[in-house]
Amino acid sequence: MKKNIIKSIKGFKDILPDEIKYYKFFEDAIGKVSSQFAVEELRLPLIEKSDLFHRSIGDVTDIVTKEMYDFIDKSGASICLRPEGTASVVRAAIEHNLIYDRGLKKQKYWYYGPMFRHEKPQKGRYRQFSQFGAEYFGFSDTNSDVELLMMGDFLLKELNVENAKLHINSLGNMEDKERYEKIIFDHLSAKKNSLDEHQKDTLAKNPLRLLDSKNDNVKEILSNIPTLYETLSALSKNRFDMLMSKLDSLKINYILDNTIVRGLDYYNDTVFEWRHESLGSQNAICAGGRYDNLVNIIGGDDVPAIGFAMGVERIIEILKFNDNFKVKQNISIGIINDSSENEVYAHSVSKDLRYEFSGISFYNTDSSASLTSQLKNAIKINDKFVIVITDDNIKNKNLTIKVSENQMTDTLISLEDLIKYMRNKYE
Ligand code: ATP
Ligand code: MG
Repeated sequence: MKKNIIKSIKGFKDILPDEIKYYKFFEDAIGKVSSQFAVEELRLPLIEKSDLFHRSIGDVTDIVTKEMYDFIDKSGASICLRPEGTASVVRAAIEHNLIYDRGLKKQKYWYYGPMFRHEKPQKGRYRQFSQFGAEYFGFSDTNSDVELLMMGDFLLKELNVENAKLHINSLGNMEDKERYEKIIFDHLSAKKNSLDEHQKDTLAKNPLRLLDSKNDNVKEILSNIPTLYETLSALSKNRFDMLMSKLDSLKINYILDNTIVRGLDYYNDTVFEWRHESLGSQNAICAGGRYDNLVNIIGGDDVPAIGFAMGVERIIEILKFNDNFKVKQNISIGIINDSSENEVYAHSVSKDLRYEFSGISFYNTDSSASLTSQLKNAIKINDKFVIVITDDNIKNKNLTIKVSENQMTDTLISLEDLIKYMRNKYE
């Protein structure tokens, strides 16, 4: 009878050792760059009250209508696995009075960790995925937009991600946004017959979203409406012009892209997205924007803010295809012994060596296997250096080493001399 095997849940993936090196590389880079930009880390819970996201992201958005992992817990509370990080950061900042900490009104925070969305699993789209995000609170002028964009640009360089394209746009203030929504609504309502049911639904609930539609019928109809930029109020337009001119001066390349609107309710003025064409249709690797009203909506004072979230799995997909990707590999040395009676001695050698060399991995092979197969396996992992322990070694209080430099011929050595030899070789 076939065994009933339990498998992982669709859209949730295991991260195996082969992939871990990319995550570690990413994690090192975010730690380094965040500190270069004086941004502090927050670690927040994976579960929040569902209401947090209803209130912040907006009830007509894809995330809230379709993608939330929300459920009623045993005490009857409506809770959910977080679909994104910004709302949680804002909640924590208000709850712990972080924005006004130490007399300063300007604070910058980053987070990194898993997010959950119940969407259709496909390449570049998972139900559990990781985001790195940065949020700047209290900064209203374009300098903070510039600094945040520079941080994203810096991080992509640190990761050796080349050819990422920064698309930016401005939604203007809330009135500008509503005015433009109406332009889209009026324009498409007049041609409702050419829309499918899904598009009609989006038109009724969130017309701005149709601007980044990939469907030709919508693109065609919207091709002759004014661009968002053309309809901005003077204040928002000046702000956006100033931002673009600063980016020009700092040689941060960007594309002014009228179709960037972002799906969430809380954005105003600057919105942006880095894309990488190599990824195909799921090509957004980092996205964000300004959200000057969100702190207020979640229950705090009026605090302007701007942030972004980077999709880690999509970045890792790029790293995997990067020929220049190199990580410092740990040296791993096998300690082989020829009988189970020698095991304790072998463990005591590896214990001493671990104390001496914190940067090297030592492992004891399986002594129930033959010496030859133990050796073969150890050489597969490190073909340069192997330590062997036999009955004779124990009797003579020494060790046998096999080093590729002398064609792996046996050399007898005391533990003290081995430590000296390895210091010279590896330090
Ligand atoms: P998309 O249009 O790709 O669905 P989004 O607008 O839903 O993106 P955000 O909420 O802004 O995305 O998230 C920021 C980044 O997180 C995205 O640019 C992407 O890199 C990544 N991301 C979002 N959803 C997923 C997912 N389901 N699986 C993997 N990565 C994701
Ligand atoms: Mg999405």
